[in-house]
Amino acid sequence: MTTKQDQLKQLRDRMQQDTSLPLRADATQLVFGEGNPDAKLYFLGEAPGQSEDKQGRPFVGRAGKLLDTLLERIGMQRADVYISNIVRFRPPNNRPPTPAEIAAFLPYVNEEIAIIKPLLIVTLGRFSLAKFLPTEKITQAHGTLHTVDWQGRRIHVFPLYHPAAALRNPQMRSALEEDFDKIPSVLAQLQSLHQKGP
Ligand code: URA
Repeated sequence: MTTKQDQLKQLRDRMQQDTSLPLRADATQLVFGEGNPDAKLYFLGEAPGQSEDKQGRPFVGRAGKLLDTLLERIGMQRADVYISNIVRFRPPNNRPPTPAEIAAFLPYVNEEIAIIKPLLIVTLGRFSLAKFLPTEKITQAHGTLHTVDWQGRRIHVFPLYHPAAALRNPQMRSALEEDFDKIPSVLAQLQSLHQKGP
């Protein structure tokens, strides 16, 4: 049987070879997701920035350091979770990805989620929120658990502000910390729900 690790490697290889993917020409390298393939928590950000583009790893710049700190607050480490982005090549000058660029990467994001099968998807920022809850505003949706039908399955989504936005805005940072602190109890709630069955 192929392991999740093998499946993720195959997915990464396919992305490396997919010359139809946008943004490749201006980027240094592909920034694939990383972390524990059996993670219960899957974090979905927006797109690689300069540090990520250089190192080929997601969330390793300033926003990533904040994410590490937030994980520590709830007694977790990067190795416990899976961290990924919608767009996997850095947009020039960190401009926001276009709808067409996001759409081009989505099949891969869907496959990644289908391999990992996390208990909870934590969206970081408005672009990844829009993937699951296109009509929700982040100012309303952040910090509350949402359950959505997605590809024939029910999935649980917990929207958060993006750490990069929180670095620029102290109020958003407080909200992000407060929301993040709810993650353990949301996970516990979902775990007990799943033990009881659907
Ligand atoms: N911002 C993101 O959305 N993703 C990263 O990997 C880094 C910064």
